[in-house]
Amino acid sequence: MTTIDLPLLPLGRGKDLSAERGVECPGDLPAASDPDLVARAAAAKAALGERVFILGHHYQRDEVVEFADVMGDSFKLAKDAAARPEAEFIVFCGVHFMAESADILTGDDQKVILPDLAAGCSMADMARLGQVEDAWDALTDAGVVDLVVPITYMNSSADIKAFCGKHDGAVCTSSNADVALEWAFAQKGPDTKVLFFPDQHLGRNTAVLKLGYSLADCIVWNPLLPNGGNTVDELRAAKVILWKGHCSVHGRFTAEVVDELRATVPDVQILVHPECAHEVVLKADLVGSTEFIINTVEAAPPGSVWAIGTELNLVKRLAAAHPDQKIVFLDKTVCYCSTMNRIDLPHLVWALESLVEGTVVNQIRVDGETERWAKVALQRMLDLPGRSSRD
Ligand code: SF4
Repeated sequence: MTTIDLPLLPLGRGKDLSAERGVECPGDLPAASDPDLVARAAAAKAALGERVFILGHHYQRDEVVEFADVMGDSFKLAKDAAARPEAEFIVFCGVHFMAESADILTGDDQKVILPDLAAGCSMADMARLGQVEDAWDALTDAGVVDLVVPITYMNSSADIKAFCGKHDGAVCTSSNADVALEWAFAQKGPDTKVLFFPDQHLGRNTAVLKLGYSLADCIVWNPLLPNGGNTVDELRAAKVILWKGHCSVHGRFTAEVVDELRATVPDVQILVHPECAHEVVLKADLVGSTEFIINTVEAAPPGSVWAIGTELNLVKRLAAAHPDQKIVFLDKTVCYCSTMNRIDLPHLVWALESLVEGTVVNQIRVDGETERWAKVALQRMLDLPGRSSRD
């Protein structure tokens, strides 16, 4: 398979241990060219037996997925981890916020390991706790904070989830964002406002396309500008305040490419994730979470033609699994999640062999106070009616 090996995020390395960007891994990694990597991973996993449980996100490389005990989206994987209390080590082949969620939902005696600490999420990193607290202060000064319910996407750091827990808010996934917003708007009367982090696209697509708000009801909060770049009157008038964050993968898809594919690929259906920009979602035939995309393709008849707007590893796997359908990628260029791709076979081998030797590497720990409040926000999501468990 095609892989990319970029010198990623050098500014984050060794600078800010709390950032989603993370830091460089310690220790000596096996060479990527080592012909024994597959055998070494298999041997280490076998040696650990039931003590280890390996989780693989849908966007991971094939070479890593091969060793996953279970595949899924971030929330499903965190729940899968919680359902394996006998596993001493949870090796999370995903990104940092996912490993945090697994640590929150697993027992105190279980250790969650992220094979490469540089596997962060650029979207999660776009909403930092200090920025969010500043925004809350500005909303207080504007006299509207008592009407605001904070909702954070699962794809956010644990301290942002905790912030939502503390401030009467909740977590949502891309499957239940509409239910979460409906819940939020019922919390503080008819003038309720929702502050949605960190993905402006999921927030806008949900508020406008699912709940019927207008684009004018939504404003964007730019954390780099005073009042998020808004006047006090705009803050008072807004129904939805969208944090200025986005996914670097799903943000790449464009309406122009949709038009081009419709013009050149007969019968193509456009299937995209709601993290895509509003103008792309408007032009799509179907919009839904990672699990929705997988289920849609699996249920489609032979001969179906798809252009899919989500992470490339998943699109390639879907194409390989369904040769009776035509599946193309909704972008002209390679578009992996570069941070997710930090988890490769050398890092997995290194993490597993370290565990076999008795050394726990790259453990992800969420402090007790953060965990307590993040659990409050997660529980509010679990208590929502209907769909609550998909990313
Ligand atoms: S695909 Fe987007 S949201 Fe998911 S981990 Fe990568 S950058 Fe973050």
